[in-house]
Amino acid sequence: MTIERTGILLLVSGPSGSGKTTLCRRLADEGEAIYSTSCTTRPSREGERDGHDYYFISREAFEQKVSNGEFLEYAEVHGNFYGTLKTEVLNHLAVGTDVVMDIDVQGADQVRDCDDTSIQVALVDLFVMPQTEDELLKRLTGRGSDAQEVIELRMKNALGEIDNWPKYTYRLLSDTREQDYHQFKSLIIAERLKVSRLKNL
Ligand code: 5GP
Repeated sequence: MTIERTGILLLVSGPSGSGKTTLCRRLADEGEAIYSTSCTTRPSREGERDGHDYYFISREAFEQKVSNGEFLEYAEVHGNFYGTLKTEVLNHLAVGTDVVMDIDVQGADQVRDCDDTSIQVALVDLFVMPQTEDELLKRLTGRGSDAQEVIELRMKNALGEIDNWPKYTYRLLSDTREQDYHQFKSLIIAERLKVSRLKNL
């Protein structure tokens, strides 16, 4: 008797500096899930690779993909567009592969509202946030790759974004990197045990 299960769509949101991207990347690097690489119109930062960190595309190309219906969700964040291609998610879920996606709160609303049943069965949503505002500011400043005005804008946006945490099923209050990852990985391990994900029983 083969018991297969459908893939999990682990949707992770949280303010800049919460460490969510590191968590998602590590899960993918350890082979626990496929990382959904997003399209963005923002310029790449030093060290970022096209096709790995993001698909860096022009605004025109982004708009074309919107009109072709290629996105599962998309949103404007900090003045740039970001979107998840359906191809980065749906085919993997269908064959039982888990997918992790790092998207903002507007995108999360769209995924929750999506009427595709395979998404609804797969979806696990988590909000990652620092324990205090001081800690958030420290983390935003600590990255060192952005200008002061960018940090201020991100702090303002981050506080607005944090207001959304009650919409999520799970919340992780950030502690040490290791502790965070331990909890994060435990979540996907537990979700894999869900009876509702089993098929061909
Ligand atoms: P950053 O520019 O720092 O890489 O990302 C800025 C924000 O955009 C982060 O909150 C990140 O989660 C969000 N983001 C990244 N990819 C996507 C996406 O495909 N869709 C949406 N809605 N947000 C995204």
